[in-house]
This record gives sequence, C-alpha cells and structure tokens, in this order.
Amino acid sequence: MHDVISLGIGEPDFVTPWRIREAAIYALEQGRTGYTSNLGLPRLRRSIASYVGRWFGVDYSPETEILVTVGVSEALDIALRAVINPGDEILFHEPCYVSYAPGITLSHGVPVPIPTTARDGFALRAEAIAARITPASRALVLNFPTNPTGAVLDRTEIEKIAALCVKHDLVVISDEVYAELTFPGHEHVSIASLPGMRERTIFLHGCSKAFAMTGFRLGFACAPAELTEAMMRVHQYAMLCASIIAQEAAIEALDSCREEMLRMREKYMERRNFVVAAFRNMGLPCIEPKGTFYAFPEISTTGLSSRDFAIRLLEEERVAMVPGDAFGPGGAGYVRCSCSTAMELIEVAMERIARFVDRLRVSTPGAHRPS
Ligand code: PMP
Repeated sequence: MHDVISLGIGEPDFVTPWRIREAAIYALEQGRTGYTSNLGLPRLRRSIASYVGRWFGVDYSPETEILVTVGVSEALDIALRAVINPGDEILFHEPCYVSYAPGITLSHGVPVPIPTTARDGFALRAEAIAARITPASRALVLNFPTNPTGAVLDRTEIEKIAALCVKHDLVVISDEVYAELTFPGHEHVSIASLPGMRERTIFLHGCSKAFAMTGFRLGFACAPAELTEAMMRVHQYAMLCASIIAQEAAIEALDSCREEMLRMREKYMERRNFVVAAFRNMGLPCIEPKGTFYAFPEISTTGLSSRDFAIRLLEEERVAMVPGDAFGPGGAGYVRCSCSTAMELIEVAMERIARFVDRLRVSTPGAHRPS
C-alpha cells in the first residue's frame, strides 16, 4: 500500500547516532572483521559491567558473568533454553512481548500468563503471581517498562515480587530493554539490584531501543557465573558470537552516548503526550505509558475487534497499528500505537484515526462514546 503511516513497528525511527556508526566504520577500516571470544569482546564486557553497575546498581564480573548476544532476542532464547526442563512452568505477565510464550514452548516449558489490566495501569501484582505458583513453577519473566503497554513497576511492588521469588525459589528472567526509556517522574528499578535477587536473576539488556541500534543486533545477558556458563553452552553452538562490528559500536554507545539517548527519549515523551491526549479526545480510553515508545488505547467501544479495527483503519485511512491481542488474549479490545514516527506524521495519523472512529460511531451498532 502507498501513503501508509506506520505506527506499527516497534523500532526507533531515529537513525543510530553518528558517533556509534562511526565506531562501526572505524572497526571495519581497521580490518576488525573476525570472530570474537564466545562471551564477546573483553573491552565490551568491561563497558557493559560499568554501564550496568552505574545505571542499574548491579555489579557483574566481565570475565564470568556477562555474555554478549545477538540482540535481546537471542539472550531471551538462550536464557529460557538454559533454565527450562521439560514441563517446567514459566510465569510471565500479559499483555506482553510476542516472543515470551513461543520461546517458552520451544524450550519445552509451559507458559503461564498472568493477566494485567488497564484498571491497574497494567501493573503486575505480587498476589496475582502468587495465585499461579505451583510446585512446577520454575521461572518468572518480567519486562518493565512493558511492550506493549508502557507500564512500569514501583519499588514497593518489585520488593514484594522479589520476596515471592525467593520464597518459591524462582529464577527471574528480567528483560529490561526499555529501561532507559522510562520517562522522567518514574524510577526504573532493576529486580536484580534487590537483596537476594542477583543470584537468581538473569538480567537482559541491549542497544536496540535506547540507542536506536535495532539493525546491529546487539544484546547481552548478565547473570551469576553458573547461569552464564549454562547460557554459553547454547550460545557457542547456536551463534558462536555476536558480530564484531556491532560489538565495537556498542562500546561507543554504552560508554559515551547518554546525551543522544536522552534527546531521543525527550522526543518519545513529546509524542506520547500528544497521542494519549489525541486518543482521549476521540473518546478512546488510554492509560498514560510511563516508559517505552508505545501507547495502548482501548478501542472496544467502537464495536470492532482489535483485528477488524486495525485492518479497517489500514484499508480506509492508511494508518497501521498492531491489534492488541497479538500480545496475548488480555490485549483484545486494544491496539498498540508505536510512537516511533516523526511528529508531523503522527499528527496526520491522529487526524485520520479520529475521522475513522467518528465514522464508526455513526455506522456501527453498539459503538458508543464513553463518558
Ligand atoms: N524484548 C522486548 C520487550 C522487545 O520489545 C524487543 C523488540 N521489540 C526485544 C526484546 C528484542 O530486542 P532485540 O532487538 O534486542 O532483539
């Protein structure tokens, strides 16, 4: 289709900051084109250790506790494969990133979703986890700030969740890929930084979102040596190592690109403010995302399913968004709007969506504008 404004894909619209690209070019110029250690370049692992220590408050040894991966995607996969025995139950909150349930299934685990709701700001409650713990529970996957809802967890709730994990001896796989994109006024607390948690947490992070480096495919897993060793066994046979060029670029990103990251976050926040207000003006309830570059408006009052809404919006108004139930059944009645498009285009997209919603309200039986 032509003339489509995409609010669909979950990747920054910004090109990778120049100094990061320059580091990659320089690596090529120097002929740094070979394999690296399976764990990743020692220099990068030292950068990761100091970055995670500084911004997340957890210390990891670059020699034995950090593994560089091909994106958080690979880190997640090897973490699940290293931890899960067939039949283990793996808990995760939903709506959530699309890879969790299939990743668990591929590792012969049993996915156990824990629903979260808009009423609660899509926050995860320790009691909701406790209600689903059984003797087969093995691990809990967390993702805060959350794709697709933008939810974050406050310190009190994380502490309760941590206590629960200690009590039931759960491993935590914490996907914190959006951590830097937590908006001012909210605190990002890594569960790994809480007492008793470092030893049972696999911390996952990467450069895709904060540094607009999706195409570099660079992530990392930090965990106690025993867990890192277990993940290494999968990684060395499946992947060998991440690209050396991406690894050289990541050193630059982690060491010196805080300013660039903050400038991008500022833009995401402006866009978030604009789209949340626009959806609410259309009569579509939308909780304010506290992080990420997504908004998750509710569209059920239009009388359409998420899928029909997304398809008709695309066909009739040339705006792409993702149906909410792609992120689990709890996402039914919602759509995900990615604010990773220039403001000028977002403005046009919101006009188109408003026109579409108004038309639906006139023509669809059962559609209503909530008060
Ligand atoms: N985790 C979450 C929550 C994501 O949203 C994404 C990408 N959309 C990933 C992991 C994968 O990121 P990467 O590019 O580092 O593989």
